[in-house]
Amino acid sequence: MQEELLHSVVKLTKTRDVDSLESSLLSTIHEFIGCQEVSIYKSISLKDAADVECCLSLQVIEGKRYRWSQSEKVQSPSSELLSCLNSACIIAVQSNDGIERRWVPITLADKPIGAIAIVSKGLGSSEQVLLNAFCCIYENYLTILHENERDKLTGLLNRQTFDKKLKQLIEKQVLKHYKTTKSQQDRETHRETVSWLAMLDIDHFKRVNDNYGHVCGDEVLLILAQVMDGFFRATDLLFRFGGEEFVLVFEPATREEIESLLYKFVELVRITKFPFVNKLTVSIGVAKVGPYDFPIHVLESADKALYFAKENGRDQLCFYDQMEPPQTPSRDEDGDIDLF
Ligand code: GH3
Ligand code: MG
Ligand code: MG
Repeated sequence: MQEELLHSVVKLTKTRDVDSLESSLLSTIHEFIGCQEVSIYKSISLKDAADVECCLSLQVIEGKRYRWSQSEKVQSPSSELLSCLNSACIIAVQSNDGIERRWVPITLADKPIGAIAIVSKGLGSSEQVLLNAFCCIYENYLTILHENERDKLTGLLNRQTFDKKLKQLIEKQVLKHYKTTKSQQDRETHRETVSWLAMLDIDHFKRVNDNYGHVCGDEVLLILAQVMDGFFRATDLLFRFGGEEFVLVFEPATREEIESLLYKFVELVRITKFPFVNKLTVSIGVAKVGPYDFPIHVLESADKALYFAKENGRDQLCFYDQMEPPQTPSRDEDGDIDLF
């Protein structure tokens, strides 16, 4: 038993991404603790505890057979789950038929971010100890993975994790595209809900450093990151890409929604009181993220749009496909395109 337990901990801490860590945790709990169902709930919005995403469930069907299921959103989370998330305490409820439902909170940087839910015929004290220990190992390891994905100064996602996150978003889109029926696709095409990527750069930031020094510049960067974090939805991905440049990735939305959202953000930065500087503005370039796009091409498009916004006066946003068309390369007499 002890040897198996050690092996399972080794296996659990071998994984390098959060998704496989979650499935590893559930199989480990299922393997060592007699239960009918074990799920991991993730609270996707700390701002709104009712916004809960159930990531993954492992359900025992009969005897040794079990089934995995994944759901995107919990429409009406149970009151026990919400209490667990809000109080960061273990909640256990026993029904008349002897079935116990237990919720163990998962915290990250002292904030509850999710819960492990387990349905069983009642856990003995040693099983409870084991369950709590697995959840603690998961929490500690999640903290390391989380820190690895973050920029040290601002706490936003870092450049290194960008490719992985964007690839995941594109894969999700392809899957959704593949699953939706033709009529749904027609309706969605009509609404044109695609994902969007925005590249944001502070205007004349060099002046902030030149006038007030690097440390003050860093503080301005930190405050801007906090303004971004407070303004955008919890599901939007916010990256510090380097220096005073940020990349934002939005889940499917219409052009009008994204335009209005980013317009409001440009306005918000304009009116925010930053330390040291009287006025700070940003320029933003925006590009669509299609289900079959390469991340590098989307970035290039957003970068071109950002450059366009800078060239045309800064303190504004520009969509890549609304830029003036690039000059068509000249053709020689044979009709070949001259590239150089
Ligand atoms: P533009 O409007 O064209 O973007 O002008 P800019 O001055 O913002 O752009 P430029 O690329 O000329 O300068 C960016 C400056 O950002 C240069 C560098 O001093 C500063 N910078 C880059 N990384 C950091 C950082 O981590 N901390 C601080 N404080 N400054 C940084
Ligand atoms: Mg700049
Ligand atoms: Mg820059």
